[in-house]
Formats: sequence, C-alpha cells, structure tokens
Amino acid sequence: MSGKTLLFGIFGHPVSQSRSPAMHNAAFKALGMDCRYEAYDIAPGGIGAAVEKIRSLPLSGVNITVPHKRAVMADMDYLSPEAELAGAVNTVKNEGGRLSGYNTDIEGALTALREFTGFSPEGGKALVIGAGGAARALVLGLCMRNAARIFICNRTAEKAESLGGEFAGKFPRTRIEFSGLESAEAGRFIAEADILINCSSAGMEGNAPLALPLERFGGRFGVYDLVYKPRVTPLVAAAKELGIKAESGIDMLLYQGAKSFEIWTGVPAPVEVMRKALGGG
Ligand code: NAP
Repeated sequence: MSGKTLLFGIFGHPVSQSRSPAMHNAAFKALGMDCRYEAYDIAPGGIGAAVEKIRSLPLSGVNITVPHKRAVMADMDYLSPEAELAGAVNTVKNEGGRLSGYNTDIEGALTALREFTGFSPEGGKALVIGAGGAARALVLGLCMRNAARIFICNRTAEKAESLGGEFAGKFPRTRIEFSGLESAEAGRFIAEADILINCSSAGMEGNAPLALPLERFGGRFGVYDLVYKPRVTPLVAAAKELGIKAESGIDMLLYQGAKSFEIWTGVPAPVEVMRKALGGG
C-alpha cells in the first residue's frame, strides 16, 4: 500500500467469513489498480459512528452487510430510488465526504437469475420463499421489472402478508399473493410458479432445510437458492434429485459485488476474475 492507495471495505457483524475482500482485491489486482479492500467488524451499536468516520477517512467506498443495511440509510446524503424502496443500503460511495447509498443486491439477484435460469421477470410468475431483507430486495426487483405474479411464502405468515401487502400497494400491475410456508396455498403456488427462489435462511449451514412439496413444481426456469453455504444446499440437492434445474446463490454475491465495483470506480468489473476469486468456475 502507498499513501495514494484508495481504500474500500465491508462493514458487518460478523464479517470475518466474508468473501468480498478476496473478490474485490482480485479485481483491483487484475486491473492494476492501487486499491485495497478490507473487512471491518462493526458491532450493531457502532454503525452510526463508523459511517460518520467514512466522511473524513480515505475510504472511497464500503459494502454494508448484515445487520446494518437498514440502519445506515439515515446517514446517507443521497439514496438511490432502489435503496429507498428496498429499505436497505449495501453499497456506500464516498465523494469528498458526501455519502451516497445504493442497493446492488437487487440487480445482482436479477442478473444471477437471468444468467443461470434464463428467467426475466417481465410477465413471469415467481415464488419467493422468505420475507426478510433478501426477499424484500427480490420482490422489489421483480415488481420493478413488471413480473405478472409473485407468490410469497414465509415461515411466519404475517411477515409474508406485510411484505406482499406493501408492494401490492406500490406496484398494482403485479399480482401478489402470500401465505405461510406450510399452508395449502403454498402447494398451489409451487404448482403455478415458473421459478422458485429461496430467499430464506433455511438450509444455510446450521439451519434446518425447507420441507417443500417440490414434486408439485414444474416451473421451466427451475430453482434458485440464494443460500450458498454449503455450495450444494439441501434445496438444490433435493431439486436435482427430481430432475429440476437448480443452483445456489454464489453468483448473486458475484453480481452485486460487480455492480458495487462499478459504482465506486466507474470501470467495468472483471467478472470472471471475481468469479474465480469466489471459488467459482
Ligand atoms: P433475514 O432478513 O434474517 O430473513 C430470514 C428469512 O429466513 C425470514 O423470512 C425467516 O423466516 C426465514 N427463515 C429462517 N430460518 C428458516 C427456516 N429454518 N425455515 C424457514 N424459513 C426460515 O435474512 P436475509 O438477509 O433475508 O437473508 C436470507 C438468506 O439469503 C441468508 O441465508 C443469506 O445468506 C442469503 N443471502 C444471499 C445473498 C447472496 O448474495 N447469494 C444475498 C443476501 C442474502 P421468519 O420470518 O419466519 O423468521
């Protein structure tokens, strides 16, 4: 590092397991850029002060991850329309002390879906499992791209209802239905959807897997699991056993990172280099 090195980073808690430093540092190296990306563990109570410090530090940009994506919104001087609607910021750009907040999870998810499954939201029917931050980003992206129908199923049915109700009001062109995960409605949604997207933490290392009647699913775009640890998730394994095309979510991480990189640097991201750094093909 020199006195001229531009610094980037990720604020999260915990953050030691993050693969973003490897991905971004590989990109900077490949392009011969004098830049460095580090992980910073910021406990929940400290995020406001940490974000304030960005203004006076030589930190050109940071990613924000769990649990801070909503809390940092209050500290931004500018919010992109997507970040505002999603209620979450995952990318901050610092321009001489002025902080802009973006949400690249939405575009990252939609790009990964298109690349892997061929699915594009316009006129499509998508089943979203989960109603947390990731599901919210996905539902927003699908609505913004004029999906015809979205089915939301969540373990806690009230959260599916709250998420679905909010976006149904904002995007009347998309028909949104919701239910609990184990209801009869969920079985109908599985049978009707073109694509099934798991946005819940079920199946993540240490979490119980989803118990879905996948044999009822006939969607031509298959199953996409945002969970990527383990790399072959229980949902992906179960789908493949039934002959359903299925993939886990490492490419969403890749494409959200690529978009953040471009926001910070204005340079096209070296996607294949970043994919390799994440351990992908
Ligand atoms: P979150 O806001 O904490 O929401 C978690 C969601 O998972 C809630 O809807 C919760 O249901 C549900 N859930 C948790 N355990 C479950 C279980 N055993 N069975 C069924 N549902 C369960 O988390 P998030 O930020 O949305 O992230 C969700 C997942 O997506 C995480 O695994 C995360 O790693 C992954 N993700 C991946 C990427 C990527 O780049 N590939 C990006 C973002 C997130 P309740 O409402 O009932 O609690």
